[in-house]
Amino acid sequence: MATVAKPAIAPMIPRIAPREDLNPFRIAQIQFDMAAEFLKLDPGLRQILRTPKRILEVSLPTKMDNGQVKVLTGYRVQHNVARGPGKGGIRYHPNVTLDEVKALAAWMTWKTAVVNVPFGGAKGGVICDPKRMSKAELERMTRRFASEILPLIGPDQDIPAPDVYTDSQTMAWIMDTYSMMVGHTVPGVVTGKPISVGGSVGRAEATARGLVFVVEEACKLKKISLRGATVAIQGFGNAGATAARLFVEKKAKVIALSDTRGGVTNSRGIDPIKAIRYKERSGTVVGMPGASRISNDDLITMKCDILVPAALENVITLTNAEAIKARIVAEAANGPTTPHADEILARRGITVLPDILANSGGVTVSYFEWVQNQEGLLWDTEEVNLRLQKIMIRAFHEMVDTMRKHHVPPRAGAMILAVGRVAEATLVRGLFP
Ligand code: NAD
Repeated sequence: MATVAKPAIAPMIPRIAPREDLNPFRIAQIQFDMAAEFLKLDPGLRQILRTPKRILEVSLPTKMDNGQVKVLTGYRVQHNVARGPGKGGIRYHPNVTLDEVKALAAWMTWKTAVVNVPFGGAKGGVICDPKRMSKAELERMTRRFASEILPLIGPDQDIPAPDVYTDSQTMAWIMDTYSMMVGHTVPGVVTGKPISVGGSVGRAEATARGLVFVVEEACKLKKISLRGATVAIQGFGNAGATAARLFVEKKAKVIALSDTRGGVTNSRGIDPIKAIRYKERSGTVVGMPGASRISNDDLITMKCDILVPAALENVITLTNAEAIKARIVAEAANGPTTPHADEILARRGITVLPDILANSGGVTVSYFEWVQNQEGLLWDTEEVNLRLQKIMIRAFHEMVDTMRKHHVPPRAGAMILAVGRVAEATLVRGLFP
């Protein structure tokens, strides 16, 4: 991969970091400021692009199965819609904060721009503990959330999708609630739906498939053979478990997996299908036969060719970046690497395939799903995967060209590419009123 010019990003990150700032929105702004500096954006434009356009906070009175009412808090943030409707997932997690949702919305703006699909960036979240809620409670909470954010969402306005601890069923409830309120069926209001109500083939595995396409390209540049390469994956959900399966299809060797309860490792390789079946039965990969126990921290720093963080933010930080032994870090998760860790990994010659490119396969096939809904089309798996491959490979090489032009690491290259596109759209539209 292109060599990294350390001085290019170093001045942008605060030099003294006795304790690293792990606020995701401030991290997203540091990443933006670096790209804005390279692009020499004017101060007014910087203010527009580093601030969310709209924030909606909602209270969700939800009847629990025991008859009590719990009032939960939810957010929908639209970061930027200069290039098209807002687009971004909805996360259910006890640790959701407004700043996390703002960061995730900003990353969506840059992600849709990197792959050049005609969307802006948005995100939603509800502070709740979905693992401790019944399906009926989740349905009631989701429908109330959908009705509360109804003024913001719509197929031409803002289109939610699944994220951590939400899935195709969640999207079906949102689609149904929206459709009931407007009086007719509107499949294009969400993506990541079940196929039976307008979902696209290939969407469920698109994030991981897109990631594997860009890892393949990076391996070619770094002269690493994916066949036989060792892979460690943190997070065994939609993104992580599918990535494990697809890496094994490419003859790579998955040597470690993990989830919230911990991880498992086997240097001879773990069969992802067996791990998926084991997790379905027991709720975790921990304890699966033929693999020994490992902690999440040990997984991140273990010796491997490709490390895939596929859980949450801030797992590669100042504390462990010097100890990372992977040659490529492929960010399936959003925001897993802090700016200080980025700087350390760049200095150490470790290629970080940034979230806004590496996990953008999900939003790319969401775009395909939305196009099919809007146009009444039905594409087959081959067509979806071929279109995805074309977009991912094009975006990867556009990022590499930008890296070479500015002598910067991959995240900076992807951000400069993305911010440049959104800035151009904003400037050409002009300032209202
Ligand atoms: P998911 O809910 O399907 O899976 C999350 C997985 O992470 C679970 O296996 C969970 O056990 C594990 N996990 C959670 N906290 C953990 C921790 N502290 N340590 C280790 N493992 C932990 O979610 P997902 O959709 O696979 O999303 C994972 C990441 O990928 C998120 O950062 C998400 O924003 C990002 N992402 C997902 C998509 C998508 O299409 N699903 C698209 C782009 C980005």
